[in-house]
Amino acid sequence: MSTDNRLQNGSCVACLNPTDTVLGIEGEAEWHIAFLTNLNIPGNEAGATVSAGTGNPPGMVPNGRYASLYRVCTNCAESASPNFPKPVLSLLGVDAPTLHQP
Ligand SMILES: [Zn+2]
Repeated sequence: MSTDNRLQNGSCVACLNPTDTVLGIEGEAEWHIAFLTNLNIPGNEAGATVSAGTGNPPGMVPNGRYASLYRVCTNCAESASPNFPKPVLSLLGVDAPTLHQP
């Protein structure tokens, strides 16, 4: 049940500290998992997070490209990669910066 903590509203997906900022990810499931592993989340947990976050049983991920928002604090995004956009406050109607799969 460890993945449940990562999906709680208000917690950074990587460090689990409270945060109100998000980043968007758009691409295949592998792209979402790569984003999470860049945040130093172990690969198996990253896969489980993607499965749970898309309503799939563990080990199952969506086919094809899709978009999701991930709650990430600025510190984790900055330390993960200089290529990551700066996370923004997750206000309704605000488009979050999104990393698109090439
Ligand atoms: Zn964080």
